[in-house]
Amino acid sequence: MQIREIVEKINSLKGDLTYWEALLHEVQNDCQHDYVKVDYYKTCLKCQKTESLYY
Ligand SMILES: [Zn+2]
Repeated sequence: MQIREIVEKINSLKGDLTYWEALLHEVQNDCQHDYVKVDYYKTCLKCQKTESLYY
């Protein structure tokens, strides 16, 4: 595998990551959260959004 191919693959995956992260945030922003408490965190059953219970 050539370096150029590797760099192109990395850039492609970064683009995908940005896309999926944006989509996840969009879904989580729209979610009517249904949290369940797990240890020191609460996780939404619908969108998997996790928040610490310590602030
Ligand atoms: Zn949610």
